[in-house]
Amino acid sequence: MQTPGSLYVVATPIGNLGDITQRALDVLGSADLVAAEDTRHSGQLLARLGISAKFVALHEHNEQHAAQGLIALLQTGKNIALISDAGTPAISDPGTWLVAAAHDAGIRVVPVPGPSAVICALSAAGVTAPNWLFYGFLPAKPSHRRQALQTLAALPYTLIFYEAPHRIVECVEDLAGVLGGERTITFARELTKLFESIHSLALADAGAWLAAEPNRQKGEFVLLVSGAIHSNETDDQRKLRDTLTILMDDLPLKQATHIAAKLTGIKKNTCYKLALSLRGKDS
Ligand code: SAM
Repeated sequence: MQTPGSLYVVATPIGNLGDITQRALDVLGSADLVAAEDTRHSGQLLARLGISAKFVALHEHNEQHAAQGLIALLQTGKNIALISDAGTPAISDPGTWLVAAAHDAGIRVVPVPGPSAVICALSAAGVTAPNWLFYGFLPAKPSHRRQALQTLAALPYTLIFYEAPHRIVECVEDLAGVLGGERTITFARELTKLFESIHSLALADAGAWLAAEPNRQKGEFVLLVSGAIHSNETDDQRKLRDTLTILMDDLPLKQATHIAAKLTGIKKNTCYKLALSLRGKDS
């Protein structure tokens, strides 16, 4: 019986080519096949690194289907290196399905670690809190984004997000609106590149800071937001606040109050007062 090959999960630079590791070069140079998100982009990257490789496309639109073919090849003894456009595959990038399918099929999965924007940002942001939560990309739709943030609002961990430049302004508005302006946000932008910058300030001031200099809205971002410091809220109060926030996205205040009171069993008057204060925060 044929000995199966291995699936290598290989990190590539997030900007600075010098960040490629020796092991990544060795694995990419010797793999039978390189599975890449964008074969043209990765072809150029590998050419700059002096490596010629045979590519197969594995991106978010074909991953589940392509994974089956790659598993079959691995089972015939081929070694496959998985890369993404930049950074570590399967971290807010394609690769998760292939890696899971490889484990299911009893294929050896070998991590070849290296750059990842989340770790790069966290290591240089000056965050002293010991615990953090990497969320990845928030939903693009504002109401969904606010709902997602609501689920994170009470967590006492530094929250880490990826965000695209065309959504950075609205995203920061929602971070301040839902999490509160007193938290600290760090913008880790263009890491390892020419215009790298790392800047921390209060969330309340972040919108104005971005608006003051258009270049601050350009490039690639990791956002780090300090965690909830403490909450004197009871579970019931928190549940009411979460419920009202979601309802008030789509309903007038009175109707939201009425439904929230029914859902939570909390007095209508209490619901109404909290709804008023939440509305005050929005305006
Ligand atoms: N898998 C990658 C990793 O390990 O970092 C992340 C891929 S994700 C599709 C791309 C996002 O990562 C960007 O939108 C940005 O939020 C973040 N990112 C990637 N490179 C970056 C850089 N050089 N500086 C800051 N953020 C970066």
